[in-house]
Amino acid sequence: MSTFRLEIITAERQVFADDVNVVVAPGIEGELGILPHHAPLMTMLNPGELLIRKDGEEIYLAVSGGFLEVRPDKVIILADACERAEEIDIERAEQAKRRAEKRLRTHPPELDASRAEAALRRSLARLKVVERRRRKLKSDLGRGHS
Ligand code: ATP
Repeated sequence: MSTFRLEIITAERQVFADDVNVVVAPGIEGELGILPHHAPLMTMLNPGELLIRKDGEEIYLAVSGGFLEVRPDKVIILADACERAEEIDIERAEQAKRRAEKRLRTHPPELDASRAEAALRRSLARLKVVERRRRKLKSDLGRGHS
C-alpha cells in the first residue's frame, strides 16, 4: 500500500514522523481523511482524535487543535498540543474535564464559555484516546498477543 510522509510537531517537540498510509484528522469543517497524493491543502484543526494507519496498524493520538498542511512532499500537522495514548495522564485529563464541566454548569461571572468548551473537548479527546488503547490492549490480550 502506498505511503506518504507525516510529521506532527508542536512548539515543544516532534510528536510523530513516519511514512503512513492514511491520516484522519478533526478539521474545523469536519473529519478529514488524507491519503497519498492528496491535493495541497491547509486547514485548521479542532481538538479531537487523530487516527494514523500504517501497515495495518492503527495509532490514535489526541490533538488540541492547530493546523494541517498537505504539501507536495509531506503532510505536516502543527499542533497546539498532541499526545500519543501512552503519554496521556488520565487523572489530569479527568480533572480538566470536571473543571470545564463545572464551569459550564455553574456559569461563574468570569466564564469564558468558548474557552471552557475547548478545554472540555481537549479532555474528552484525551480520554477517548486512552479508552481506545485500553480496549485494544484488552482485545490483544484476549487473542493471546503479547
Ligand atoms: P490542563 O488543564 O490539565 O493543563 P489543557 O487541556 O489545558 O489541560 P493543554 O493546554 O492542551 O492542556 O496542554 C498543555 C501541555 O500539557 C501540552 O504539552 C500537553 O501535551 C500537556 N498535557 C495536557 N493535558 C495532558 C494530559 N492529560 N496528559 C499528558 N499531557 C497533557
